[in-house]
Amino acid sequence: MSGRGKVPAIGIDLGTTYSCVSVWQHNNVEIIANDQGNRTTPSFVAFNDTERLVGDSAKNQAAYNPTNTIFDVKRLIGRRASDEIVQKDMKLWPFKVEAGSDDKPKILVTYKGEEKEFSAEEISSMVLAKMKRVAETFLGSDVEKAVITVPAHFNDSQRQSTKDAAKVAGLEVLRMINEPTAAAIAYALEKRACEMNVLVFDIGGGTFDVSVISIDREGHIQVKATGGDTHLGGEDFDNRMVKHFVEEIKRKHKEDISSNQRALGRLRVHCERAKRIVSTAVQTRIDIDCLVNGKDFSLKFTRAKFEEVNMDLFNKCMEPVEQCLRDANMNKDSIDEVVLVGGSTRIPKVQQLLQELFNGKSLCQNINPDEAVAHGAGILAAQLSGMGDEAVQGLELIDITPLSLGFKVKGDLMYVLIPRNSPIPTKKEDTFCTSFENQTVVNFDVYQGERDKASENYLLGRLELSGFPSAPRGEVKFNACFEIDADGILNVSAREITSGVNKTIKITHNGSLSKEEIEKMIEDAERYKFEDEAHLKKVMSHIALDNFVSKVQASLKKMGLNEKDLKDLDHQIAETIEWLDENPDAEEGELEDKKTELYNLCTQKKLSHEAKASLNSLFDSVNFER
Ligand code: AMP
Repeated sequence: MSGRGKVPAIGIDLGTTYSCVSVWQHNNVEIIANDQGNRTTPSFVAFNDTERLVGDSAKNQAAYNPTNTIFDVKRLIGRRASDEIVQKDMKLWPFKVEAGSDDKPKILVTYKGEEKEFSAEEISSMVLAKMKRVAETFLGSDVEKAVITVPAHFNDSQRQSTKDAAKVAGLEVLRMINEPTAAAIAYALEKRACEMNVLVFDIGGGTFDVSVISIDREGHIQVKATGGDTHLGGEDFDNRMVKHFVEEIKRKHKEDISSNQRALGRLRVHCERAKRIVSTAVQTRIDIDCLVNGKDFSLKFTRAKFEEVNMDLFNKCMEPVEQCLRDANMNKDSIDEVVLVGGSTRIPKVQQLLQELFNGKSLCQNINPDEAVAHGAGILAAQLSGMGDEAVQGLELIDITPLSLGFKVKGDLMYVLIPRNSPIPTKKEDTFCTSFENQTVVNFDVYQGERDKASENYLLGRLELSGFPSAPRGEVKFNACFEIDADGILNVSAREITSGVNKTIKITHNGSLSKEEIEKMIEDAERYKFEDEAHLKKVMSHIALDNFVSKVQASLKKMGLNEKDLKDLDHQIAETIEWLDENPDAEEGELEDKKTELYNLCTQKKLSHEAKASLNSLFDSVNFER
């Protein structure tokens, strides 16, 4: 199958710190570089007095605009504001997050001089829309469909919110898959016709996943078990470094920067850079000018110190590996390959601990750890849209659900209907009855997690059944049905069966977006896109006039003008330059008028034939719209 003529679907790895997009082309997966030529794009969105920035441009100004530069939104999506993890993160983020209605976190920024609120879904949608645009520019056509990856350990609420974000970005989600599974697809296609058990160790900027996956000769990829931590990654290592330096600066230099967001932001950027360096070198220096009170700092940082401040976190990464092997009923020897995925697997200590755990086995780094997930998503996107060769079409994927699903029963106990590591899609039903005399309302509180005590797990939402006849305890019966689709998203329904009245109610998640909210966000996203485009046009027009003026200025002497005309034009050029400096927000029309004014003034002078021709071609070549 060639796929020619079909609208391509893309694969997006929506990462905590970086995102990556891919597409199937010329019988291969292509990782698409962004407008800066980078194959991964920072998952950053920034707001300032004039514009909204997404990606590299947002990250590049983060240190100077810390309170309005949003990152890490993947740590927030689908969580409640009161969530312990969110509360902890909020203390570290330079931007403001508050609890909104339904305990949903809202991100507060100042944009064009006004205070604005955004949900995590909206910020995520801006990153997704950026990745969509990157692909559209590359392909020269619109893109509407995508496979999007999520951490294997994401719960239902986090998955649903990610899907909502995609909708707001104008993307139809063909499938949502787990990140390590996507990496395994990339690996399986690389190792065509091999039968093996693979352990994917995936640690990026904010999340950590481990999956044990079996691949057979026919291209069947079966996830056997998965584990990890949705809140552990490179940013935690950066935070430890920041904490270390804040203390050192206090101790050695008697300066306290712990509440100086700008200084902390700059320090964080330098720490992340130094962290990457000590993955290859054994030591480096962090030089920061004017960090606080006009003081410059030159701080030594060694790999040993990096390991010391993070050792407990590195060790924490090894526990889920052993658990995952136990869940898959395998031992270390049955693993043929340990595949490294995610930027943080470049840390030598992480590699060393993992290698020791597997009794010295060498680790597989054949696939680029930054791109493996997007690579696999691109393959699946090709398959689901009917593209790709036989190997792609032959791939068959059986994924699993990472967390047990059930509801609360008497005594705050968790009644599990679908245990974790169950293959998906799946459907489970059970029958219940009323537990009180004359009960006319039944609530099913749906939880996800592994604790026996239901309230210690994550409350996904409540299902309320009412309107059935009152009867003695135990006489009214219900059927509850839990269904997980291929995206790993849960649908719960319940039916009262005793009176013959079938009543099915779909669960609404705590904090999940309503249809109206999504529609409003789509409208807002369109408005922001329009504003961004208008701003870009204005900037380009400004640059175009600036270019025109400087080119005319450069060719003045060659125009054969008399002294008076030369002086006149020189003066006019100086005025135009001044006007440009004073009017950075000039509208396109005004800029066009200024250009014509300067052109007319030139043509009124006595010009040589060649000068006229070159002026005309200059005038035509400087376009305001690009
Ligand atoms: P990912 O989400 O897979 O793009 O991984 C991003 C994370 O990997 C960030 O926290 C980076 O700081 C981290 N990272 C990237 N390269 C390196 C490296 N050479 N050494 C240590 N960490 C790295």
